[in-house]
Amino acid sequence: MEMQAKTFNDHVDEYIRKGTDMRRKLDIERAAKIRSSGGAMFKVCKAEQCNLQEGGNTGSFKCCGKCKLAFYCSLGCQRAHWRDHKIICGSADQTEQTLPSQQTLEMHILNPLLESTDENVKQYCNAMKVGLNSRVAASLGCGLNISGESGAISS
Ligand SMILES: [Zn+2]
Ligand SMILES: [Zn+2]
Repeated sequence: MEMQAKTFNDHVDEYIRKGTDMRRKLDIERAAKIRSSGGAMFKVCKAEQCNLQEGGNTGSFKCCGKCKLAFYCSLGCQRAHWRDHKIICGSADQTEQTLPSQQTLEMHILNPLLESTDENVKQYCNAMKVGLNSRVAASLGCGLNISGESGAISS
């Protein structure tokens, strides 16, 4: 996956170099670049009403120390969101944050195709979904331990 992500991101850079897209370089990167785990490279803060996205001068976000799948711009946001997050933190249906384009692909193409009666189509879609929902991120040491088993904030 590491190589695939690099190849994909190289294509994004090439696209940016062409100069046909008027958006800022960072905006295109935020919309398109992926991590080696397959999810979004620039995470959006999970806290309610924050919506801050990594990149530019935000520095890199820290992830929940327990599940390593929820990202926050600050300790304040992590604390504010813990009440909601602790319900799903570490559960099997928690997935890595993906790009809006990946979410669209999953919702409008992969999920409907899973209804197919063709076994090959189904298998292919399932494999794609596993890729999108990769939990490999959890094994990447991506931040500080900001929540312990009890939910207490540790520094
Ligand atoms: Zn935030
Ligand atoms: Zn968590």
